[in-house]
Formats: sequence, structure tokens, C-alpha cells
Amino acid sequence: MIEIKNLTKIYKTKKRIECKALNNINLVLPEKGFVFIVGKSGSGKSTLLNMISGVDSFTSGEIIAGGNKFSKMSRKQFDKYLSSYIGFIFQDYRLIDGLTIKQNIELALDISGKKEDVSSYLEKVDLAGYENKYPTELSGGEKQRVAIVRALIKNPQVVLADEPTGNLDFQSSKKILDLLKEISKTKLVVIVSHNLQDANNYSDRIIELSDGKVINDKSRKNNYNNNFEISNNTLYLPHNYDLKEEEIKNIIDNKSKIKKIIQKTGGFAKTVEQVEESKVFTFDNKKISKENKRKLFTVFFRRKIFSKIAVILLATIIISLAYVMQSFRNFDSNLAMYHDMISKGYSEIIINKRIDDSTNRIGIVSESDVNEFKEFYDKKIYKIYNSTISSFLSQIDKNLYPTTTAFYKGYYCGETFGTLNCDEDLFNKKFAINGKVEVLAGNLYDKEYGIIITDYFADSILANNPTYTDYNSLIGPFDNLLNEQYINAIVKTNYKEKYNDLLVEIDMAIQNPDESHISEIYNSDEFLAFKDDLNKRLALGYNLSNNYEQSFFKNEHSNLITSGQYSIESKDITHNSTYGYFYKNNDKYDLKDNEIVMNYSFYNTIFKKSYKPSNLDTFNEHSMVLKLYAGSQYSKVIFEKEVVIKKLVTDKYYHISDELYNELIPYDNFCSSLYFDTLIQGYNILPLSKQLDYYIVGESSQQINTAKRVVDIFSSFVSILEYILIACCILYLVSFGVKNIKSNIYEISVIKSLGGSNGDIGIIFILQNIIVGIGILLLSSVGMFVASLIGNEILVYSFMEIVGVKINSFKIINYYISLVVIDLSAIILIIIISSILPTRFLRKVKPIEILKAKK
Ligand code: ADP
Ligand code: MG
Repeated sequence: MIEIKNLTKIYKTKKRIECKALNNINLVLPEKGFVFIVGKSGSGKSTLLNMISGVDSFTSGEIIAGGNKFSKMSRKQFDKYLSSYIGFIFQDYRLIDGLTIKQNIELALDISGKKEDVSSYLEKVDLAGYENKYPTELSGGEKQRVAIVRALIKNPQVVLADEPTGNLDFQSSKKILDLLKEISKTKLVVIVSHNLQDANNYSDRIIELSDGKVINDKSRKNNYNNNFEISNNTLYLPHNYDLKEEEIKNIIDNKSKIKKIIQKTGGFAKTVEQVEESKVFTFDNKKISKENKRKLFTVFFRRKIFSKIAVILLATIIISLAYVMQSFRNFDSNLAMYHDMISKGYSEIIINKRIDDSTNRIGIVSESDVNEFKEFYDKKIYKIYNSTISSFLSQIDKNLYPTTTAFYKGYYCGETFGTLNCDEDLFNKKFAINGKVEVLAGNLYDKEYGIIITDYFADSILANNPTYTDYNSLIGPFDNLLNEQYINAIVKTNYKEKYNDLLVEIDMAIQNPDESHISEIYNSDEFLAFKDDLNKRLALGYNLSNNYEQSFFKNEHSNLITSGQYSIESKDITHNSTYGYFYKNNDKYDLKDNEIVMNYSFYNTIFKKSYKPSNLDTFNEHSMVLKLYAGSQYSKVIFEKEVVIKKLVTDKYYHISDELYNELIPYDNFCSSLYFDTLIQGYNILPLSKQLDYYIVGESSQQINTAKRVVDIFSSFVSILEYILIACCILYLVSFGVKNIKSNIYEISVIKSLGGSNGDIGIIFILQNIIVGIGILLLSSVGMFVASLIGNEILVYSFMEIVGVKINSFKIINYYISLVVIDLSAIILIIIISSILPTRFLRKVKPIEILKAKK
């Protein structure tokens, strides 16, 4: 029994116009019987049915069904109510096309927890033998009969049908109505119809609605028949009935006999409602079995299979692209250097402190950095000092300042790349030929501060500097371009034998200058290997003292400090300059502490004065601030001191006190690089060196660092692109999941009306998304690999084209396993989210929306 009290339903349209679809309805529907709801279109018939089935909510009033007040029921309870108390019959039958008739019925049986023979059900509706047909092979009436059987399987208390014969012809309609009539003997059958004839013929009660109100409610008297009849000279006309052709013929034929015509009234009288004791409805859980879930899964999964494959492909492409970008951003120049070195079979690493991003100028290595490296490298770390020896003439005025990478006369170097403070072990390892180090001139241990050079570098000096004639002439105090050093010895390397073919070729190319041939040689693998040997052996200076830093102070031959960027400031004058030459006083001017003298014309330029050699004694001493800088930007001050200009002199440059000289030594001679003797162990320091801003020295380092700078420039742009791609991927997968549900909403409505729970339906779809997800996962791990190969190929090719160099086994895009693992885990997470989110959508959708769903 269903009680409806003061039921009002107001629809609010989008334009906020209110529509009272039901207006204060009061009804009591009995336990059994055939109730017709009739009325004009728009009178509220469907709305009333939807209220009774609980798929839509009402605005005010109350419905009590099976002892349960609707106003007290939860969404879940409504689902259960709909799935067990109500049997829903749709105008469009709603069979699942992908399942056979038997399977359609089995699904309903399964959800109802029954294991009965399908054939007996089909026999009941005259459809024996239809088991293995598909719904598309049946007529409308046949389908509706299957649908009715199916709706009855769950043994509902109430059968609701909204115009169930609306799509059927007369004969089919009759069969359906007969069937429903039969059912109504034990159950309450409520159908919406606008066919008054049917209502009059079949109904036990007719409720007429108009504008949301009950305007007529009549019930049939017991034992009333509405048949066409001619008997006892009387014509009985059925109530509300169109005469059929043969009946009209019958009347005409019997015209003479008919004396009396009686129009039947329909046998209806105003309904007297009775509140009876009703069967109490209890909420029980219904489950779809695993097997049926699998069947449904297959039906749903097969649908639009190509769009699923497309989702997998597109998601894979997006993910692979995002990976390429991610790997691009993570380009590790040190790792690239490491791979380069490994591929060339090198065994040591030199790292330079980077001073600023715009140059590769070397900075001062701090002791705390060295200690950090020691934690990751248990062998000895050697220091390379920036004190160098130039192969050029000692004329400081010379405009041409040699850079360390420049070659003169073919393959000779302009300057040593620094001085390695090494020990005997390392020295022997580098220079022993047949187990013995061969000294070509001088004595390795001559002076503590003395430098040992290679025969290669000695040859460079002899080639570039005519002051010297042979190896022996190089030994002793060496008048250097920017500094004064002492050469202890020359060690043999056999470099000429080792690089014979290359050096001969260079010599020949130099003699007949041909730019393209020379640059071809300079880019050859042989020359690159030679250059690396220069960096790490041939063009280094060597010192064998215990502590080269301390030894500087003992070098009586050294009396010049060369600074990089420096400035002098006095009152409102600031003068920035490159390369300051500060000479040690050597008692010439009797300077103390912070006292200096400087060249008068230089002074005139800076301070806008006009001293002449003749009036230098009129100069009054004054103070100024001297600053030295790291890098090239005059930004990072590394030394600052107030000094006093004692007098102006005709000598060039600055002359400073011995005390100031000693103070400045560490800024001229400092540890600039660290040398690690084994590449394998040195690998540990790569991440740290990146973090502390060191770069690896090697002939590819410049190019790799250029690549790093290019990567850094694009990095933020690429990461934005990457995030957009990831967001697209998530949205795409979620929308796929939602679309997948939406495109099957018709079937979902069937399962729901049969009593399937949202949870079970959700699982079928989650499973689909997970299968698609696994496809994406598998394909994208391959995709990332392929994309990284292709991406790298393209990037490296274009990079080398632009920069014009060759770097061995150079990778800008790497297939970093750790990154891939992180990404795949992220994808799993995305897939889980994008599988579950759409089923949330399923819960959000009102049952009415689902039931209204169209194919
Ligand atoms: P019937 O089934 O008798 O033809 P309905 O119950 O479908 O009528 O509709 C009753 C009234 O409520 C109509 O005026 C219809 O326009 C309105 N109506 C029905 N459903 C909605 C809805 N979802 N939103 C707004 N108005 C609605
Ligand atoms: Mg309707």
C-alpha cells in the first residue's frame, strides 16, 4: 500500500520560472489492483509515477510505501527501495542490446539472487525458444514482454509503467495489458496511459489528473463487464469504446431486432479509499555476481573499443612528451660529462669552481667545499692552483692576452692550465715511462715553490718565446707574462710519439693555411683526445711540495700580484678596471702596511688631475679603498681594504708594501680546481659538484655547459608546457571515464532499475578504466623510452649543428630509470584518481536522470 499525502512537486526551470507539476495530491493506492493514471499531456502523470518510484524528490508532502516514510529515507535506501519494492517498465523496454534475451533475464535473476530457469519465464509470456536471440531481433511487443518478465523477477510489490504500450500496435498492446491485468491480481500495477479505452477496459481504478490535481478518481464495481452485446432486443454499448467494423455491421444487420439501446456507464463509482494494513518493506542488499560483472564488463568494454585504444595511444603520447620535457629540464651537465669521459676511457676528473653564470672563469675553491667532497671520495683529493706559466714573452703591455684554450703555432699552448700540487705517486702514475720518470732538464725537487713542466709545454715556450733557446735555459726563475714563477724541471711525456700523425697533420695544415681543413682537424676525435690530455696532463704545471699554498710565500723571485677585476674608490670617484698589477715594494719606496705608490699619469686619468713628472713632490697623500672582485660583474667583492697613496711615481702600475703583498697573494695564487684521480669513485661527487656549483673540465665541458645554459633558458618554459600536458592528461582521462559512463548510462539505468547498486556498477567502470590505465602504463613505459631516444636524437643533432662540435655519447634526454619509476607511479595515481572520480559522478547523478537516459 502506498499513501500519498498533500504531495506537491514544483519544478524550477533555468529561468527560475516555477512549474507546479503536482499540486497537493492525496491518494491511497491499494496492495493490489490495476490503477490507470490518465490525463492530458503535461498534467503531471509521469511526475506522479516518478514520485512513487522514489527516483525524484518532491517539494512538500509525504509518501509512505511499505511502511517507510520517504521524507526519512536516505539516497541509499531509495536505491534499495527502487531495486526491490518497485518494478519499473519503460516505454522503450530497456533491454541490454549486447546481451541475449537469456542473459538479459539472467542478469535480473542474478541481481535478485535467484537461480531459476530462464525458459519457464519466457514460456509465461509466450516467448519460448527466444533464449539466444538478441533484443534487436525481437518486435516491440516481444521486447516489452521480456521487459515485463524481467521486471517481475525481483518480485516487486508495485509495478510501475509509464505508457508501456505507447510504441506498440493494437494486438501487441492487448497482450501486454492482458499480462499486466494478470499481474495486478496479486500486485499493485500502476500505469500511465492516455488511452481511455484501455483504461475503461482493463482498470480497476482510474485516476485522472489535470494541472497537477486529481480531478477524477473512480473505481470499478465488482463483476462489471463492459462488453459489446445484443441480447433481448437490447443493444448494450460498452462504455467509452470505439465500435469495431464488425460490431457496426452486426448492428446494421440486426437493425430490426433492436428495440432498446443501453449505454453502459463503465461500472465505475467514485473511489472510496481504504487505509489497509500494508506489507512492510525492508531494505536488503542486492549484489551483482562476479560472473555477471564480467559479462557486463565485456559488453561495456567492447563498446567503442577504438575510442579506448585512442585514449591509450593519446595518453601515451602526452605522457611520453611530458617525460621528454621533464628529462630535458633535468639535464645534468656533469652526468653528460661523465658519460663523455667514460666513453673515451678517461680515468680522472678535474672540477672547476664556477664563478658566475656568464663565464667559465674559475673561482676560489673553499676549504669547506673540499671537506664536503671528502665525505664522498675517500681517496686523496689533489688541488690545482691558478698560478700559471705563460709561453709568451714577458711583456705585460702586449695586447694579446692568451686564453687557456688558444693554440699557437698549431698545437702549442699559450699558458699552463694551472699547477697541480701532486705527490710522488700521482706524478709517477702520470709520467712514468717503462716504470721510470724521465727528467729532461733541472731537478724535480729544486725549490719548494718551483714548478715542473712537461716537454710539451717546454716546447710551447720555445715555439712562442724566442728568449729561450733550449730546455736548460728554461730552468730557474721564469720571467712570466703575468707572474713570476720558478721552473724546477722538465719531464718527458713522449707526446710527440703518441700523437705523431695528428701533430704532423696539424703542422702541414698550418703551413698551407686552409681554414676548413684546420677546423676539421680541431674537431676530430684524435684532436679532442689530445686536448683532453692537455687539460689533464700535458699543459698542467706540477708542484711536489707538501703544501703549495704555503710555498708561495717563500718564493723570493715572485714580486708581482695580478688581479682580475678590481676597483678603487675615493670620495665620489669610483674607478673599475681589469687586471691590476701590484708590485712588491722590495725596499724601493720604503712602504709599510697599507701604503702604496702609483703611476702619476694613471692617477691623473682616474682623479682628473694634471701632475707632471716635474711636480710630483706637490702631491698630498690621501686614502682610497681598493677592492678585488670575483667574476666579471664587479659584484662579488672578495677583498677590500683602505690604502694610502703615499706618492706618485713615474714607474708603471702599483707598488705596495710587503705586508699588503702577502695579503694579496691568496687572491692571485689560489686553489681553483680539484683533481680526482679515479673516475669511478669520482662519480660520487658529481651530484655534489652540481650542488656546490662546480663544473667538470674536459674538452666537451664548454659545449656541455653551453647545452646546460640553453636547457636552463628553456627550462621554465618547458616546465610550464609539461604541467599543462600533465593537467591535460588528467582532465582527458577523467573526461574519458565520465564519457564512458555517460555513453553507457542507458544500460546503467537498466541495471539500476533491476536493483544493481551504484557500487557494483561503479566497479564495472572502475575496472574498465583500470584496464585502459594498465594499457597506458605499459605503453607509456615503452613510449617514454622511445620518446627519449627520438627526442634526444633530434635535440643532440640540432644542438651539435648549432654549436658545431661532436660530443661522445651525448645525451640531453636521458631515460632515467628513477625518473621513469616516479612518473609511472604518478601515472598509477592519476589512473586511480581518474577511475574513481567518474564513479563519483555516477553517485551525483539523480536516479531520475539515469532512468530518463536515452540510448
Ligand atoms: P505528463 O506525464 O502528464 O505529460 P509530466 O509529469 O511529464 O506530464 O509534466 C508535468 C508538468 O511538469 C509539465 O508542465 C512539464 O512541463 C513539467 N515538467 C516535467 N518535468 C520537468 C522538469 N524536469 N523540469 C521542469 N518542468 C518539468
Ligand atoms: Mg508523461
